[in-house]
Amino acid sequence: MMEQYYELKAQAEDCLLFYRMGDFFELFFDDAKKASAILDIALTSRGTHIEESIPMCGVPIHAAESYLARLIRAGCRVAIAEQVETPAEAKKRGGAKTLVKRAIIRVVTAGTLTEEALLDSRAANWLVAIAQAGDDFGLAAADISTGRFETIALSEGRLDSELARLSAAEIIAPESLLQQKNYENRIPQSVALGNDHFNSRHGEARLKDIFKVSTLDGFGVFSRAELAAADGLLAWLDRAGQGKLPFLQQPVRRAYADHMLIDAATRASLELTLSTEGRRDGSLSASVDHMVTGAGARLLTADISAPLMDIGLIHQRLDLVEFFFNDTLFRDDVRDDLKGSPDLARVLGRLVASRGTPRDLSLLRDGLKQAFKLYEKLITLESRPELLDQILPSFRGHGNLVDLLERALIEQPSIDASQGGFIAKGYDHALDELREMGGESRRAIAALEAAYREKTGINALKIRHNNVLGYHIEVPSRHADALMQSDSGFTHRQTLAGVVRFNATELHEQAIRATQAGVQAIATESKHLEFLIQSALEQRDIIAACADALARLDVAAGLADCAVQKNWIRPDVDDSCSFDIVQGRHPVVETALAKTGERFVANDTNLNPENRLWLVTGPNMGGKSTFLRQNALLAVLAQAGSFVPAEKARIGLVDRLFSRVGASDNLARGRSTFMVEMVETAAILSQATKRSFVILDEVGRGTSTYDGLAIAWAVVEAVHDINMSRCLFATHYHELTQLSDRLPALSLHHVRAKEWQGDLVLLHQMAEGPADRSYGIEVARLAGLPPVVLKRASEVLAQLENSTDKTGDFSASFADLPLFGMQAYQPALPEKDPLYDAVLELDADALTPRQALDVIYRLKELAAKDKVM
Ligand code: ATP
Repeated sequence: MMEQYYELKAQAEDCLLFYRMGDFFELFFDDAKKASAILDIALTSRGTHIEESIPMCGVPIHAAESYLARLIRAGCRVAIAEQVETPAEAKKRGGAKTLVKRAIIRVVTAGTLTEEALLDSRAANWLVAIAQAGDDFGLAAADISTGRFETIALSEGRLDSELARLSAAEIIAPESLLQQKNYENRIPQSVALGNDHFNSRHGEARLKDIFKVSTLDGFGVFSRAELAAADGLLAWLDRAGQGKLPFLQQPVRRAYADHMLIDAATRASLELTLSTEGRRDGSLSASVDHMVTGAGARLLTADISAPLMDIGLIHQRLDLVEFFFNDTLFRDDVRDDLKGSPDLARVLGRLVASRGTPRDLSLLRDGLKQAFKLYEKLITLESRPELLDQILPSFRGHGNLVDLLERALIEQPSIDASQGGFIAKGYDHALDELREMGGESRRAIAALEAAYREKTGINALKIRHNNVLGYHIEVPSRHADALMQSDSGFTHRQTLAGVVRFNATELHEQAIRATQAGVQAIATESKHLEFLIQSALEQRDIIAACADALARLDVAAGLADCAVQKNWIRPDVDDSCSFDIVQGRHPVVETALAKTGERFVANDTNLNPENRLWLVTGPNMGGKSTFLRQNALLAVLAQAGSFVPAEKARIGLVDRLFSRVGASDNLARGRSTFMVEMVETAAILSQATKRSFVILDEVGRGTSTYDGLAIAWAVVEAVHDINMSRCLFATHYHELTQLSDRLPALSLHHVRAKEWQGDLVLLHQMAEGPADRSYGIEVARLAGLPPVVLKRASEVLAQLENSTDKTGDFSASFADLPLFGMQAYQPALPEKDPLYDAVLELDADALTPRQALDVIYRLKELAAKDKVM
């Protein structure tokens, strides 16, 4: 057995090996140590190897999926070695002690999952391969749970933003590429694969073979790097399925000019599809996710990840949203229909991966029926938006398949095909007869029980069934003697503690008939299952198109629902360079505030070529970052085809979106806060165009005051004069406001705040002109900094403001600053509070009304004393 194990383990390479033994998958040696630690299961041992006991752990087959899920989440890959013959076959082959043949039937990795339990129904699961040909790069990406397959040719500079758009579960790249300086850091979650797996010629041949075409021209003109990436992707899929390729739809070549460029840092800082904590909750896509199907939610995330650049297509999407926006009854009706519809794309993924079950076929039947129901509803409309007309044909044309599945399957078949029972009565007469025979024999066996009781006079006699003896007669031991007689007609089979078991000729004959009929029926059903799956797969392309169309309908109706509920409006997207928002709001912050009953303060934004750069100042916590982000998010929403939170919005197409917000360390990738800030700023300055939209929040914060100010100053000038992008620039450097005299397209704005009865009130409202000051110390007071520190900060601030020394050397001006005086800084210790104690001592239930009044007077007195103290 160990020999066989080693052979399989060698094939499994760096994967954990799940080795099938009986009802368990067992792991040995280091695999066992690693898995038991991750899964928190017992590490035992079995036998010895080179005089050392072999560490082992195991997971039961029936629960294997959930263990697999945990291992995959922990970053492992798992090779599954199954028994590929039955013990009986092994025995026949080589005698009683022959080892059952095992083979790796599948390699499970994060990017090659199709199991429902291991996937998030609302998120895509991309496997991405990267390849390089000269200076060109290519990506090939597949989500095998749905068959989506795309490629993109790109330059090295676009690599990060495309990988960020796909947010891949697994990335594979040629060894040589990863060994290049900084690539391993740049794509930390990537897996290396031998360079010869990335061969463009071989990739081209394989694509032609898979899609049965003699030329790939029909899909577009692929670059060499794209074909090489496709080759690598297919090699990885081959390995995962051990030669059995999963479902891939025809490849879609994406051109990166098709969608808004958003780099990884911008995506992360705007929390487009994941929040800063790495969860969906709190992201833009989660906040607009009113979709009623998993497929709809996945398409929404894809739309938000890749806002469109084609004004015609954007308006097509918006028209469809508006159509549902205007007709609440119809919208609700369509959404109700969609709500119950199965996830056809994922069903198809499982069918192609040979993991389809009778239940999947019934889901396919129900989903396609539902699609046709929608078709009938939508076709009666007098006027339809163009996009609806385009997708409508995909909702029909599956009649034959649906008919077949309706005739063949019972209403709700189970997931388990091995026990049969899923083929409907009347579909196959021979099967019905077999079932009838089986039924008759079972009825005959039940009748025999009564007959044997009568014949023997033993009322406790029972006919039972188990896997070892099959059908048999069982009597309590005290009655056994009579049946043991040679002329009794019963044959002794087994004596147990309290019972004795027998067989009888008639029973034996009926049992054989019942079993044979049952076995034949199951074999017949399994043939039907194969045929039905095959029939479905022949129509895979139109099923996939139907699934896509359902998802598009869900997205449009869901976005309309979101817009109605949150009072959003249709944006006007054109090819100007304007950005004109009336009363815009932040889509995520507004929803969060609404939960606590707070109101979000709406603000206008008006950028155009003559006034394209706003310098925003104002107090800490005033809402500068929120304002900046909200405008960026409005652009994303509008170009993704969604309504937006505003009263009016006119957005000139944005080609690239850049956001540099807040400080973030990326120590894991060897960059300090300031370095990250500068790398991201450099990317903006080198890539932003007139059409781009840039938000810069406190650039220059991570270094000394004058260095930071100088950098911020130069960056504002560069964005204004060279990039000429639309830009919102928030800063605490009030010195920058002087730039408004020198830069004609720059204007000054601030978030308003006022002091009221000694307290700072943040109004979150934008106004023209610079802010009077930062109010940092007031905000620090709100945050609870000790009074003595606040007082000291005020003294230092006054000194700094009086200083005229601009060399950065403040030593002279601080010479006469009174010393801090540590003794003055005494953290407030919890003191004994008589008022608090008096309240605690009260026994409210024991008070008479009169006493209660007295207590109130006493507490008032204590409170008054407190104040004097
Ligand atoms: P800092 O300069 O300290 O980074 P900031 O000016 O960038 O602060 P934000 O982080 O944008 O301030 O906002 C602080 C908080 O104020 C937000 O978390 C939000 O709760 C609230 N806020 C911001 N804008 C608004 C608004 N328009 N309406 C209501 N509340 C808002």
